[in-house]
Amino acid sequence: MGRVQGKVAIVTGAAKGIGAASAKALAREGAKVICSDMDEEGGEAMAAEIQRTGGEAIFVAHDVTDEAQWANVVKVAEDRFGGLNIVVNNAGIAPTGGPIEDLELNDWRKLIAVDLDSVFLGCKYGIKTIKKSTEKGQKGSIINISSINGQKGQMGQTNYSAAKAGVIGFTKALAQEVAKKGVTVNVIAPGYIDTEMVAAVPPKVLESIIATIPVGRLGKAEEIAHCVTFLADEKSAFITGATFTANGAQYIAG
Ligand code: NDP
Repeated sequence: MGRVQGKVAIVTGAAKGIGAASAKALAREGAKVICSDMDEEGGEAMAAEIQRTGGEAIFVAHDVTDEAQWANVVKVAEDRFGGLNIVVNNAGIAPTGGPIEDLELNDWRKLIAVDLDSVFLGCKYGIKTIKKSTEKGQKGSIINISSINGQKGQMGQTNYSAAKAGVIGFTKALAQEVAKKGVTVNVIAPGYIDTEMVAAVPPKVLESIIATIPVGRLGKAEEIAHCVTFLADEKSAFITGATFTANGAQYIAG
């Protein structure tokens, strides 16, 4: 029996990186997974890979900033898999725009839309459907992906730090709001993880970042996926409103 045997999960940004690792891990643990992403080729390939390895998955093209597309992806979960138990709000973009005086309002708005509005929409639409299964006694799980930079703030990344800190505050409030409905809402705050997002950092800068990580390396997407399956497990029903820090001791939030 897998940790999430028979559960239905939506994972956003599932074409690559942390989302792909989470989709694969949930499928390995018995979930039926909707791989959602704007990257259609990557998302299709990921769902196909899960199917090839014996899991159940489908791809849905999905821009997480679009409300109508959220309504659609949740409907697909109900139509194809009969309901919904887990939403992993993972899709996000890296900081753009630079220091405050150079940061254009458009860069601010775009990042807040992709990294924070998406979490609001994913929770709003997810919970409406998840509630139907929690009424039958199953645990519902929302897992929102923040960042170390939402915990400590990162200079030159005010938009990203604000969005990711917003994810933490939003999660704390929502966890209390839906606790009685049987839905847990938690945050994972990864440190620097070896994905395409981090591969875009110039090598010298990356070297200097790794030098500040006591564990001495970047994290792996699979290590974040491990936190995802743990939080989605029925046995984690008392863990809600929490921020799970996974950063190799680079920053220890009090
Ligand atoms: P990647 O860039 O590797 O993957 C992100 C995926 O999300 C891509 O497939 C991307 O598609 C997709 N995406 C981007 N915008 C949208 C959108 N509007 N709608 C739907 N899908 C979208 O990122 P990571 O795996 O590294 O990061 C995943 C999450 O983890 C993000 O929220 C990130 O902020 C967070 N995080 C990452 C860390 C890291 O070190 N990697 C550290 C801390 C947090 P496309 O490629 O086509 O844009």
